[in-house]
Amino acid sequence: MIFSQTSLQDYVDCPRRFELKYLQKLKYPAVQVEPLEAWERQMMSGDLFHQLIYQHMLGLPEDKLFRIVYEKKDDQLQKWWENYLRYGLEGLPAERTAERTLSAPVGGYRLIAKYDLIAQETGQIVIVDWKTSLKRPKREWLQKRMQTVVYRYVLASVYPMIPPEQIMMRYWFAEYPLDPEDFPYDREQYIKDQEQLTDLIREIETRTMFELTGEHHRCLFCQYRTLCERGKGENAGNLEDFEFNSDPDVDFDLSFDQIAEVEF
Ligand code: SF4
Repeated sequence: MIFSQTSLQDYVDCPRRFELKYLQKLKYPAVQVEPLEAWERQMMSGDLFHQLIYQHMLGLPEDKLFRIVYEKKDDQLQKWWENYLRYGLEGLPAERTAERTLSAPVGGYRLIAKYDLIAQETGQIVIVDWKTSLKRPKREWLQKRMQTVVYRYVLASVYPMIPPEQIMMRYWFAEYPLDPEDFPYDREQYIKDQEQLTDLIREIETRTMFELTGEHHRCLFCQYRTLCERGKGENAGNLEDFEFNSDPDVDFDLSFDQIAEVEF
């Protein structure tokens, strides 16, 4: 078992979802977000946006990338791309690596994190995560996300010579380019995160029953709604209320070959 922010968040949200998705590896074809067509378009534009930034970081000229964006005839993507070029890299350290996967041991298991961007210079590392959701999540909500916990923790564990105080995580929103959310880090928080992650993994390891969540609103955006008889025959959650883009499920699809290549 390899843990990630996605699998741990699934467990925190609903133990049954964790069991179905990661232990039983059950792929269930239910609509997660509606309207479906708009959701698929949003997902495709989000994926392409991430790929474009990756290519930009590799050094592909902006005019070439802009031509790709223009040819897609996707107004939303064009807006995100313009926002990114204008504000996305503002204030970030100059040495930048995109799409990097790192892992660290925790509780006897491997914890993996796939970073959109790591920007660094002497005395500072900024983890950047690009978000293309329509809704701007609140700071309090982001602070509690397993992504905020896992990303900072893994980086600090991989680079023990760098004081956690030099690490910061930034969520940058393509729809709200002037309003990023920054989460600094420190040693006290690192130790708390280590305890939280170890406890969580121990709890999963020793659990025999994976109950359905009591918070029914979580079922709105869940692929197992029909299976669990939660909202059977009802519409899935609305795209406008969906706060996060699903990041690629690193652990769900990761092959053994890829695992061997992950840095740690
Ligand atoms: S439908 Fe609800 S109870 Fe079932 S796995 Fe999803 S979140 Fe959990």
